[in-house]
Amino acid sequence: MKVVETCAEMAALCREVDRPLGLVPTMGALHDGHLSLVQQARADNSTLAASIFVNPTQFGPHEDFARYPRSLERDLESLEAEGTDLVFVPPPHEVYPEGFDTWIEPGAVAEGMEGAARPGHFRGVATVVAKLFTITRPDRAYFGQKDGQQVAVIRKMNEDLNLGAEVVTMPTIREPDGLALSSRNAYLSPEEREAAPAVYRALCAAEDVWRRGERDAGRIQRAAHNILGRETLIGAVDYVGIVDADTMRPLATTHEGRPVMIAAAVQLGTVRLIDNVVLG
Ligand code: AMP
Repeated sequence: MKVVETCAEMAALCREVDRPLGLVPTMGALHDGHLSLVQQARADNSTLAASIFVNPTQFGPHEDFARYPRSLERDLESLEAEGTDLVFVPPPHEVYPEGFDTWIEPGAVAEGMEGAARPGHFRGVATVVAKLFTITRPDRAYFGQKDGQQVAVIRKMNEDLNLGAEVVTMPTIREPDGLALSSRNAYLSPEEREAAPAVYRALCAAEDVWRRGERDAGRIQRAAHNILGRETLIGAVDYVGIVDADTMRPLATTHEGRPVMIAAAVQLGTVRLIDNVVLG
């Protein structure tokens, strides 16, 4: 496994490797959710590249960039054990040199939910992913359904800008009690950790109401809010969104034949948790 720190060297290596090349972009602090992407990418491609970069431009000024968990040594061991060929670990000034001033601005797909709660977040995500795609020119790139709106933003960018990667979405990996694996779960106190599965329970309750025939988004949302409201440690519910799973457009009713995503974001202590389920 080769560990690469500069854009120029990464680009040069990626031009020479056996194709297809699969890319798994991450911010590190790797868990089994990340590794499921790595394993699929390994199985699908001749060359496997991963990146570890805590991207400063996708964090708001009052977010957790400084305290985001970092565990580079352990991450490199995990990636090596999975048979990764190339790991890109650029320092911030390599990705954003002095004077960097060009951005990818996603459109309507990035407006609601996470885009509304975290202004500029998807601009930072889209810009760094566009850079990673340009540097590595992956044949396939792997993302988790856990960040459902992020995948939609990246798919749209990949299509609109003809970036030419096949975007592969992998299912959300969960703890046995339903909590979606996330690097940020490490911040939860034991009490908060116990309360955290309420997010997935709320999404399942909403899905259940839908399965029993409810098509009104307001009533489906209410089923989720009822569960979240019972959990006293959950301070604020940022949103429960019922959206078209491709466009992220909010839906008033869930029409048949179109995939629907129910997504939620809550504040639990100092941690913001997001999760989603796709109906159908
Ligand atoms: P991150 O390091 O948080 O930027 O995540 C890197 C990639 O791993 C993203 O595509 C995430 O959607 C994906 N990912 C994170 N958590 C999970 C999970 N629990 N299951 C599946 N994929 C995940």
